Amino acid sequence: MTDPILSVRDLSIAYRTGRKESVTAVSGVDLDLYEGQSLALVGESGCGKTTLGLGLLRLLPGLGEITSGSLTYRLKDGSRADLLKMKKEQLRRFRWSEAAMVFQGAMNAFNPVIRIVDHFADTLRDHSDGKRWTKAAVEARAGELLETVRLDPDRVLQSYPHELSGGMKQRALIALAIALDPQVLVLDEPTTALDLLTQRSIVQQLHELRKKFGFTMVFITHDLGLAAELADRVATMYAGRVIETGSARDIFYGPRHPYTAGLINAVMPVKGERPVLESIPGYPPSLKAMPDGCAFNPRCAFATDECKRDRVNLELLTDRPLAMHHSVACLHHDRVRLQRTAPEQLASVAESENANA
Ligand code: SF4
Repeated sequence: MTDPILSVRDLSIAYRTGRKESVTAVSGVDLDLYEGQSLALVGESGCGKTTLGLGLLRLLPGLGEITSGSLTYRLKDGSRADLLKMKKEQLRRFRWSEAAMVFQGAMNAFNPVIRIVDHFADTLRDHSDGKRWTKAAVEARAGELLETVRLDPDRVLQSYPHELSGGMKQRALIALAIALDPQVLVLDEPTTALDLLTQRSIVQQLHELRKKFGFTMVFITHDLGLAAELADRVATMYAGRVIETGSARDIFYGPRHPYTAGLINAVMPVKGERPVLESIPGYPPSLKAMPDGCAFNPRCAFATDECKRDRVNLELLTDRPLAMHHSVACLHHDRVRLQRTAPEQLASVAESENANA
């Protein structure tokens, strides 16, 4: 593999909570993403995964700000650019043509008083670099993209968002996000609030689109089953930090952080015996009162005094190429084991990885 398409170094993001106060929602994140990879950011609500996803495109809401670090992209022309140093005009051209986002909640992501075709017109005209988009060109491009996601342009283009079902809106949002052929696509909870059948067809659609367009994907999810279906790599987040990262097989078959293992142990198998599930005791810490040392220590069965002293950093567990490494931030990772083999829905990708190996 060549250089990463996206390198995140020591990225921290805070939200202002008062005139001179703020809370850190993402702290010291390092990530590398290579061309064509699909990375799942997983963790409980409030762990910082959506904030990190928004930060990757500098799309944080008003009170959020990136307080340190760098976000370096390899652009389509092969040059490298730090997103944090881009001026407003550069950012406008970067977004949607180099990296795009599918926001959480298909129901609310469209402006309700604008027809679908006009959402395409706005995106194509605002984010293209100098190309003139006539009405006919917009309709042709939008129609082509809608057909790609198996929507009927005649039915959808002139519709208002409320005239589409949740699944149709999600497909239209994905079509809109890839309108300018971005290299990186960030999706926030792409199947949440959709019924099971629609979830299945969106997952299938994403597989097909990746194959066809070859984009690199980051998706944010609390659903480990979805991560297993779509991800080559998984990064677990806890209290604003990445605490484990590895291939889907590393994470679902051999997690080395007690929190990742706890998340997997809490997944009910879809077939066979229904085991008694063990939940992770306690709650994630408040961002305003983080424990000293490893933030997971109040909930961790393996915690020792050492865990309560210093921040625990990610440590490489493998000597594979960096694109495929397994890393963990745990002082006692050699003691961590799953209670049982991964449930079937988590084993699917790991098995297909085996088949492809
Ligand atoms: S560093 Fe210590 S407290 Fe943190 S997860 Fe590992 S064993 Fe548990």
